[in-house]
Order: sequence, then structure tokens, then C-alpha cells
Amino acid sequence: CGICGVVGLRHATPIVFEGLRRLEYRGYDSAGIATLVDGRVERRRAAGKLNNLGVVLEENPLSGTTGIGHTRWATHGAPTTCNAHPHGTERVAIVHNGIVENFEALRHELEAAGQVFETETDSETIAQLVDYYLVQGMAPKDAALKALQRLEGAYAIAMIFAGHEGLMIGACHSAPLAVGYGDGEMFLGSDSLALAPLTRRITYMEDGDCVVITPAGAEFMTFDGTPVQRKEQVTSLAA
Ligand code: GLU
Repeated sequence: CGICGVVGLRHATPIVFEGLRRLEYRGYDSAGIATLVDGRVERRRAAGKLNNLGVVLEENPLSGTTGIGHTRWATHGAPTTCNAHPHGTERVAIVHNGIVENFEALRHELEAAGQVFETETDSETIAQLVDYYLVQGMAPKDAALKALQRLEGAYAIAMIFAGHEGLMIGACHSAPLAVGYGDGEMFLGSDSLALAPLTRRITYMEDGDCVVITPAGAEFMTFDGTPVQRKEQVTSLAA
């Protein structure tokens, strides 16, 4: 339902958590955050209110400067902690808004290829698909694009990759996603409200856009990797 992500200089968790707080109004049943800690993907998730995630984070803090977070409104799979986003493997973590319509066919194919699922969600298919391509030896961007080409449905997605500090990949199709520009840091949000306290410099992504984000900036492309130019605008949203 809601996505917030950051790469850059500061601890990601408090920034992402505050972004999720600002997305609460959209409604949700669970929430979670993933960051890179010494290059490893680490996740904290909780069913119920953001405060529950807050308690989990207090007991088990999450460091790292590359992070993504999600508030979930369950469509496939009960609103449990296990089904809460981010989903992933030791190589990748993803958050997803929307529905992957062809998830059953993809899941069967991936399970036959040896990928081991741990949730009942349509969203985990995205993580397992990207993971599958990473295991084949593809670089994160190539694995992400290859996976995006196979997804049907409406989605906004953010991904981070083990061993790739400062890298975040976003994509959307029939669901909103915005890139925010900071000074030595960059943001991603499903709603510019999530980014309002962080920056007013925003690019709204277009349907079928993928974006590769590093602390230095953002590169936009279509799912076949063709570069596209997207305009940055200055919003008047008050923080
Ligand atoms: N379809 C996904 C799920 O049920 C994402 C739902 C959402 O947009 O929060 O996990």
C-alpha cells in the first residue's frame, strides 16, 4: 500500500519509518523495513500498527544507510508478520504495492527451478524472480529488468541488493512512485507526502519506468533498459 526508500548518508531506518508514518492515512494491516547491514539484507516486520514495528525495532535495531519500507494492505495472503513486506532472500529485498496478476504461474515455474518460497503473497514472486536471475549471475539492474519484463498487473516496487550499498531500484506500472532528490542522498516514495519532509525536488515516474538510484542521482529507463529522461519538479507541499 505504501512505499518509502532511501539511499545515502544517514541511518535509513528512522527516515523510512517516518515516511511510513506519513503514509498511514492510506490504511494498512502490517509493516516492515529492510536495510543493508555490512552488505547483508536485514529485515524487521510486524503485523498490525506501525507502533508494533516500532517495538520490534527498539528490541532489535536496524542500522544501515540503504533501506526500504512498506505498509501493507493485504490482497494475497493473510495479514501476518510472515506475509508482511519486505520480502526477499539473502540476495535481495523488495517492497511492492499492487497485485502481480500472473504470480501463480511464476511461482510454479520458480519452485520447479528450485526457489523456496516462505510466504503466501503474490509479492514474494517478485523477490524470488529477481533472486533467480541474480543466482544466474546477472547484475542487480539486469536481474531487475528481466524480472520486470515478466510481471503482469499493477505495481510499484522498490528493491535493494546484498553487497550493493547505496543502490536502490524502483519500478512502476499502473501504480504511483516518486523519486526524491536530496543532497548526497536520494529517496523513493509511493506518495510525495512520504517525501515531503525530506525534499521538494521530485520526479513522478511514468507507467513502465524503472529507476536506478544511488546517492548521486537517478537514471530512468524502460523495462527493456532504454534510457528515458524524466523531469524533476519542485513541489509546493509543505513539510
Ligand atoms: N498484493 C500485495 C500483498 O498482498 C501488496 C498489497 C499492497 O499494495 O499493500 O502483499
